[in-house]
Amino acid sequence: MHMLLLKNVDLYAPSHTGRTDILVAGGRIVHVGDQLARPGEYCEVVDAAGLIATPGFIDGHVHITGGGGEGGFATRTPELLLSDAIRGGVTTIVGCLGTDGITRHPAGLLAKARGLDEEGITTYTWTGHYAVPVQTLTGSIERDLILIDKVIGVGEVAISDHRSTQPTFEEFVRLVAEARRGGILSGKAGVVNMHLGDSKRGLDLLRRAVAETEIPRTQFLPTHINRNPWLFEEGIAWAKDGGYVDFTTSTVPAFIEEGEVPCHEALRRMLDAGVAATQITFTSDAQGSLPAFDADGVLVRLDIGRVTSLLGAVRESVVREKVDLSVALQTITSNPARILKLRTKGQVAPGFDADITLLDPASLEVRGVVAKGRWLMRDGEAVVKGTFE
Ligand code: ZN
Repeated sequence: MHMLLLKNVDLYAPSHTGRTDILVAGGRIVHVGDQLARPGEYCEVVDAAGLIATPGFIDGHVHITGGGGEGGFATRTPELLLSDAIRGGVTTIVGCLGTDGITRHPAGLLAKARGLDEEGITTYTWTGHYAVPVQTLTGSIERDLILIDKVIGVGEVAISDHRSTQPTFEEFVRLVAEARRGGILSGKAGVVNMHLGDSKRGLDLLRRAVAETEIPRTQFLPTHINRNPWLFEEGIAWAKDGGYVDFTTSTVPAFIEEGEVPCHEALRRMLDAGVAATQITFTSDAQGSLPAFDADGVLVRLDIGRVTSLLGAVRESVVREKVDLSVALQTITSNPARILKLRTKGQVAPGFDADITLLDPASLEVRGVVAKGRWLMRDGEAVVKGTFE
């Protein structure tokens, strides 16, 4: 059993507890404190003085099998590599399909998630893709949630977007109800990860579902909430009423020019508006395409999202908006863990999985990554690679 003692870290658990030691054994955190002067000869002891320790980051929306394809087959984006996650300090990923549910399939998504798990990080999946009715592994959302360990919810289901299947209200609430039932019976989140497009209809379907059915607001995790100014305003109201909101960290300068609210600014504005920090998550949308369409719906540009943008947005929140580091870190650690019911993730505390990211305190760059108790990055260098890297 590998034992590791990280000494003298500055711990953000994600709340700031200051200088301490972390003892890891058998892939779990077994002790946090400074009473561990003699750990024993089988324990690896590393003096991490000067480094910040945080929970390994959770990225709840990554197109691990690639996504996109909105510009034809040559624009299908590539799969995630293990080193992409390591570089971003990310140790837990929820994989999803996207626009394409024909050449990308839930079975391939599950296989890729299992592969990344074998390579060293923790993975889960969203079942389905943009389309309604949802494409599943076993024939129903409820069965997927109950029978397949890695499936924790449904997504990303597209609404208010020209690429959605334009579900009716009845189709939409039936889907959410199935996710809720599956979540309850399996002890999982059963959350529906909603892709929001640029249409002025915004969160209409979600508000109607909450007003006209018994489904609680917390059954939804709407993403891309920062993609334009009007959706962002709706997101503030939704979150103030107790809903969750997810911001997408992958972006390109042209999107910002067109009105996307940069993640750091979005976080600052939500907090200033009185939204509880616990309602907000960041996800990278990595390996997804970042397509831009003109007014006639013609594709004019295509870029690709990156996992590293997740920490980038946290860093910008701290540096540019003066958000407290522990608050900014919540969006990629304890908040997604709680919302997605990942009970051993998102905190550095006894009993939690030994997923720890070490940051340089000045630059907030990733210097080390421990996942499930094993070093994936040390001294700024990846020490584990994906199978074909
Ligand atoms: Zn999306």
